[in-house]
Amino acid sequence: MATAGQNDPSIVIEQVVNRTNCLTEGPHWDPKTQRLIFVDIWANKICSYDPANKKVLHAELAKPVGVAVPVENSPNLFLAAHGTDLVLVTWDCTENVKNPPIKILESVEKGRKGNRFNDGKCDPSGRFWAGTMCEIEGNFEPNQGSLYSLDSNLDLKSHFSSVGISNGLAWKDDKFYYIDSLTFEVAGFDYDSKSGTIANRKVVFDFKENNISGFPDGMTIDANGNLWVACWDGSRILQIDPKSGKLLQTIYIPAKRVTSVAFGGPALDTLFVTTAGYGFNIPEEKTPADDPKGGSIFAVKGLGVTGLPANCFKMNV
Ligand code: ZN
Repeated sequence: MATAGQNDPSIVIEQVVNRTNCLTEGPHWDPKTQRLIFVDIWANKICSYDPANKKVLHAELAKPVGVAVPVENSPNLFLAAHGTDLVLVTWDCTENVKNPPIKILESVEKGRKGNRFNDGKCDPSGRFWAGTMCEIEGNFEPNQGSLYSLDSNLDLKSHFSSVGISNGLAWKDDKFYYIDSLTFEVAGFDYDSKSGTIANRKVVFDFKENNISGFPDGMTIDANGNLWVACWDGSRILQIDPKSGKLLQTIYIPAKRVTSVAFGGPALDTLFVTTAGYGFNIPEEKTPADDPKGGSIFAVKGLGVTGLPANCFKMNV
């Protein structure tokens, strides 16, 4: 296990969802319902955690769910990445359901063995962005993924290909930040919110140059424009200033495979952290004895920063 360091005593980490999950990912705080939406990828589930009663509910689909985000002004409707499809899912988050109604909007990379959507998120204009990856029997096939966006008219655009494992996304002003985990880099692009185009890739932070173990996975951005990056197999979250490329802070998490982060809570000052409870696509594998909390969700308080409200999918049709 990566060496766990000591957090500042003002930082409090609470395990809010116990390890019943396989691979929790894609946290999204919904201010309307004050709930955390997340996915359990290999359990094919969209989940909702309500801090008020500490309940977790799920909608179980047929294929791995890379991410799910609420559709704006449509209570009970989610846009989800489901296998290699982008689908609308109807679920009201009031009880556990199996095979809820879904409608396929788009499909990509059809017939390509091992390909599926992974992480995704909506940009400040309400476009949905998600990328793909290819995994065959636990091995990653390099350069098989792409990054896509779906706009409010349901037009799908491919931005670039040759992606290894498409992961973290974040936007602020005229910048877009992106992680392909297999590059070990956090990249920054110029971003035009009106056209939804990105250009001029630059490396913002390199894990190897900074001697960070593990892989960069999901990320979010705070109100000051600093990135919070989850480290798979690194037991930590990094706070990075993307302008200077400096590592500002390390938060140690009591689980090995930290998958993603999102600010939430009434004041957007709690950092929710998703983790994985086992290796890649091996559901039979038991949680290793050295990682008993893998697969839990944690709430980190006392960071002294706030996040930006998460964007929902805007649909005009
Ligand atoms: Zn991820």
